[in-house]
Amino acid sequence: MPSAVPHRSGAASHDARRPAANPWKVDLRGLGRRAGSLQELERTVPAPAGWRVELIGVPAGAGIALRLRLESVMEGVLVTGELDVPVEGSCARCLEPIEDTLHLALQELYAYAGSTTEETSEEDEVRRVDGDYLDLEGLVRDTIVLSLPLAPVCTEDCAGLCVDCGQRLDDLPADHAHEVVDARWAGLVDRFASSPGTPGDAPTPEEN
Ligand SMILES: [Zn+2]
Ligand SMILES: [Zn+2]
Repeated sequence: MPSAVPHRSGAASHDARRPAANPWKVDLRGLGRRAGSLQELERTVPAPAGWRVELIGVPAGAGIALRLRLESVMEGVLVTGELDVPVEGSCARCLEPIEDTLHLALQELYAYAGSTTEETSEEDEVRRVDGDYLDLEGLVRDTIVLSLPLAPVCTEDCAGLCVDCGQRLDDLPADHAHEVVDARWAGLVDRFASSPGTPGDAPTPEEN
């Protein structure tokens, strides 16, 4: 009877049926194993916590936009494409907050179980297809974390901080300077500062 036919509302309902699925996993059953077959993949995946280096990293939960092409090759699945990832951190010179988006390219072969590549590689040398699935998380994590700058800057010519007052030089007038006591007088300044009335000197209150 007609009413038993399930209502179809397109791709959205397909995703809604498996909301708990791991977003990093790619189902390869549509791709098949025939060399040369292709599958496009566009997906935005929330970043796990901890993808960072000392001064900059990916905010946990930020969307990483993936645009990938999966190609079935003799040895496995070749993943090629690019990603956009938001990063937050602080300038290594002036400590100002930095927000940016990195655009990165990636390419990686995931070897099939039993392929020559898989059998002649050490466990950690090559990524592997896991049954009907391929897990993008390690590849995307390595691509991003290895691209994070160890000394990020707010602008290429950031002048950093004034060594005397610690203010950001780019926020100060160009002639910003501090009076510096000439080294030849520094000794005298010390002597005047410590001669009369210092705690070590005995007071003479009864003097008249
Ligand atoms: Zn800076
Ligand atoms: Zn200063």
